[in-house]
Amino acid sequence: MRRINPHKFQIAKQRTSREINRQIALNLIHTHQPISRADLARLMGLRRGAVSLIISELLKDGAVFEGMTGEVRRGRKPTFLYIDSRGRSVVAVDIRVTRTYIMVTDRLCRPLVGPINFPTQHDPEKLVAELSKRIKQVLADHQEVGDCDGVGVVVPGMVDHRTSRILHAPTLGWRDVDIREALSAATGMHIQIENSGKACALSQLWAGRGDSPISDLAFVTVSDGVGVGIIAGGEILHGRHNIAGEFGHVPLNIDGPRCSCGATGCWEAYISNLATLSRYFGRNLQEAKPIPAEIAAFTIDDLIARARAGDAKASAAIQSTARYLGLGLASIINAIDPARIYVSGEITEAWDLIEPTVREGLAERALTHAASNPDIRVVSAVDYPRLRGAAALVAAPAFAAPAVA
Ligand SMILES: [Zn+2]
Repeated sequence: MRRINPHKFQIAKQRTSREINRQIALNLIHTHQPISRADLARLMGLRRGAVSLIISELLKDGAVFEGMTGEVRRGRKPTFLYIDSRGRSVVAVDIRVTRTYIMVTDRLCRPLVGPINFPTQHDPEKLVAELSKRIKQVLADHQEVGDCDGVGVVVPGMVDHRTSRILHAPTLGWRDVDIREALSAATGMHIQIENSGKACALSQLWAGRGDSPISDLAFVTVSDGVGVGIIAGGEILHGRHNIAGEFGHVPLNIDGPRCSCGATGCWEAYISNLATLSRYFGRNLQEAKPIPAEIAAFTIDDLIARARAGDAKASAAIQSTARYLGLGLASIINAIDPARIYVSGEITEAWDLIEPTVREGLAERALTHAASNPDIRVVSAVDYPRLRGAAALVAAPAFAAPAVA
């Protein structure tokens, strides 16, 4: 049960119940589309007439549309309702250490154009200039995507979700950087910025179809760094200072290797791509700057290919990462106990090889037997979890529950 905050509340007005029912209808259509008015009325436990009123409002607002007629044996043929994402789009941007990706999606975060990518400039001003030029170009080249509702940007760092200020992005070397205003001025569009792990978690919350929707989950991305997003009770967990869920920087061993955040022994310093490659090459690449060219060109995919080809050293390196991955997942379970954990990143391409080791590491530290065998799902890179998360930043608010009480 949620306590009403006596200092911050919203009083129920006459239209409040209508707003709530409208959002419930919108979410049911999102999850079950195509759906008839009769089925919607049944799901909502409302009379047909009451549902028809809600639907006519949603139709008028352009939130839903009526599609093809259903096949029934006798009686009036029903028309089906769909979320209306025609002629409306969202630009999704994923800023990563080496490259930045842009994809255009519809309002349901389904890809329409791209992704396209270009090298990431680490100077914020130069990055904004390049990014705004590319966004305008892609929308000009693809006018068929229609009006753009806004731009969602994800970054590998902590973000103040109210102001979109980037508080700390260790791998980019950014502290207290504001790109929203400049990007908004340059593109003339509404901009939302969020931490990539949190946005990935959000994308699963709104994925809807296929996976049964759950409101308590963790999303872990293992890549250049380690991003974690937590959804608790259907909302992203931000915390007082927007750093909640930064499990990547929880130490596994305080005497461990140096991490991008400046501390030592963080989980990230054990499982990031560079940490895995460091083990393979037998040298600490996290402190080697610049990284030797022959190593910089070598990727986790190459390492996995070698492991599959029987290279024992490659196998040992990824199995070692798998064990540390499992140990860290146990910390997430012991702290948050989510209903499901999503894992993505290059190393998950070897999930068939590493899953038993990940689960062993996890079981070693999970506090109860029941918690030691969690529902873990791999999200492949081809599903663009970060870009979908970026799109969800713009698209999801339209489906969110109204703030009341
Ligand atoms: Zn760290």
